[in-house]
Amino acid sequence: MAKKGDMLYAWTNDAEIKKKAELGGAVTSLWKYALESKLVDAVLVITKGVDLYDAKPVIITDPAKLKDTAGSLHCGTLLLPKLVKKYLNGAFDKKIGVTVKGCDMMAFYELAKRKQINLDNIIMIGVNCGGSVSPVMARKMITDKFGVDPETVHKEEIDKGQFIIEYEGGHKGISMDELEEAGYGRRSNCRRCKLKVPRQADLACGNWGVIGDKAGKATFVEVCSEKGASLLNGAVKSGILATEAANPKGLEIRGKVEGAMLKLGDKWRKKDFERLGEGKERLKKIMAETARCIKCYGCIDQCPICYCVDCTTKNPAYVPPGYLPVNFMFHLIRYAHIADSCVNCGQCEEVCPAEIPNALFMHAQQVELEKMFGHVPGVNMELPLLALVEEKEERSRLHNTGSDMIYENVFNPVPK
Ligand code: FAD
Ligand code: SF4
Ligand code: SF4
Ligand code: SF4
Ligand code: SF4
Repeated sequence: MAKKGDMLYAWTNDAEIKKKAELGGAVTSLWKYALESKLVDAVLVITKGVDLYDAKPVIITDPAKLKDTAGSLHCGTLLLPKLVKKYLNGAFDKKIGVTVKGCDMMAFYELAKRKQINLDNIIMIGVNCGGSVSPVMARKMITDKFGVDPETVHKEEIDKGQFIIEYEGGHKGISMDELEEAGYGRRSNCRRCKLKVPRQADLACGNWGVIGDKAGKATFVEVCSEKGASLLNGAVKSGILATEAANPKGLEIRGKVEGAMLKLGDKWRKKDFERLGEGKERLKKIMAETARCIKCYGCIDQCPICYCVDCTTKNPAYVPPGYLPVNFMFHLIRYAHIADSCVNCGQCEEVCPAEIPNALFMHAQQVELEKMFGHVPGVNMELPLLALVEEKEERSRLHNTGSDMIYENVFNPVPK
């Protein structure tokens, strides 16, 4: 019987899952078992849309349909927790299983702290994550650097530090370092990301450390919670999954690769933050870049930390409506509210039509605040710094009236 802390190789006994799975098919088999045994009411996962640059979220309740969701989409830059809050009532009345990357997992914790998600009803199967590539960037990179028409590519993977494509007529791999030095490759937030093995999920699955005869055929599983152990044991007992202890040499290799990825994250942080400068120089750069903002609210809509009934950026007393460029207060409000909790998921940058590096600006500030106050967002239920100064009155106003606006004016009458 597996228990918390165990390191295993796991592989599916389901022939259909095996065909489509990225590695051993452990993740998809675990979900199949979870649905069949009614451990969860639904599973929220990613599946291929019109092509491999189009990852789409899907809710599955029929276990037979899970096979279509197996496999890794490295151009899948979505974040799932806010969808659980918005469309699945925060899992307050249903048990939901979700495959999570590190950033998804961190966003779940941040939403749970704010009572927007019921973590008791969520099972998280984490996937190790070396990074994802924006779909637009992937197409550009494949055209410019690989000299291949992106429409002819039918498979992509990131393996041993290379971005590899299979296309009509061949396959080709180029080192990620080379691509990134040339301005291509992973999203900039992914380069700075240091959550490579999502250990605060219930299970952490990946390919690092799978060696010997199981290489490419099994999934490396780290058991991170009792919930994860019981899910895994149930799946093994049902016969859909087989496991064995991980090879000790493989374990060592996995540790080394994770260590190297963390160092790479530090390197990119240094590079990106140094380029931003310090003090007034940094402020001027941020003001110049954000002057392009068209106030579409995309960043707020996507940010897992932004959940307020009434967003302060819509208060005309702070941000006068009808003007472009938008008053810088719009961005200052976001920095003040989010910077202590930003999980560097990159969503605010990914969706920005003005291509403003929002995640870089927010992440740079989060790292400064972390240095000052020691608060690390997204890894546990510790309350953020802002919670220490939050007004009780404001909370009760929100509770009683459905609005947390405190300023009355012609656009915004304070609710009685
Ligand atoms: P499968 O049974 O094939 O199931 C895969 C699951 O992942 C499915 O639930 C699917 O919906 C989900 N999924 C697919 N794409 C995404 C996405 N973009 N976001 C969220 N969920 C998704 N492992 C490593 O050890 N090192 C790495 O560097 C690494 N990088 C990764 C980068 C990305 C973007 C992703 C998605 C995964 C990465 N993995 C990495 C994990 C690895 O690719 C496998 O997902 C993992 O080993 C599980 O394999 P499996 O055969 O059990 O999964
Ligand atoms: Fe993966 Fe981190 Fe990028 Fe999320 S932010 S996709 S966990 S590398
Ligand atoms: Fe993610 Fe941007 Fe919000 Fe940070 S500010 S959590 S990067 S959406
Ligand atoms: Fe985000 Fe602040 Fe608006 Fe709330 S008020 S949605 S935290 S910007
Ligand atoms: Fe402005 Fe970009 Fe945010 Fe839209 S997504 S409000 S353009 S910063």
